[in-house]
Amino acid sequence: MAASWSLLKKASMRNVLCFLWIACGALLALSWELRSNGELRSNTVARANYLKKMESLEADNRCCTCFFHKQNCVCKSLQSSPISENIKFEVFMHYKEFGRTSNTGKLLHILYPNQTTISLYQIDDLVLPPTEETIILYPSSDSACISTRIQQYDLKSKKLNIIVLEGTWAETKTLNRQFPADIPRVNINNLISGPSLFTLRKQTKELCVR
Ligand SMILES: [Zn+2]
Repeated sequence: MAASWSLLKKASMRNVLCFLWIACGALLALSWELRSNGELRSNTVARANYLKKMESLEADNRCCTCFFHKQNCVCKSLQSSPISENIKFEVFMHYKEFGRTSNTGKLLHILYPNQTTISLYQIDDLVLPPTEETIILYPSSDSACISTRIQQYDLKSKKLNIIVLEGTWAETKTLNRQFPADIPRVNINNLISGPSLFTLRKQTKELCVR
């Protein structure tokens, strides 16, 4: 009787463990499914938003590069300052930012067309350049001054990728989370001498334009 009770206990324990194992597997599969579906939905929304913006740019007779109306297009009036050919700009733009006239990251592509790539969050694949050759323009609390950081790179012989996060303040927080924490963040705080002259967006804090 004692032996059969022990066998029964072992069998019950095995059943419980099997049940837990199956339940864990099901939960993992469900969470993966929900996550995949969530990402898929986000990507679909982003693509739809992008296509809609493209259509409206054309319908409104606006420039697809600077997003201004064609009579106010600034593409040919901008002049770039010389910079090292080893500097590459990677503008990582929130998909909602595409088509906004107040967006400034697009101007980098006009100024340095051969040194700038623009990719859209949730539309383009994020390709990470080597960490040791990359900095991210994002004024987080642990960010360093860009001028000081750039001095640490030998731009005569090595490349430097500057990732520029483009979006509203809230959107760039999301964009920043897409990159590993060990890529240095930099700010331009020491280059700012007064209130922003850019009037298409409000400066709600001393060093922050929203
Ligand atoms: Zn233009």
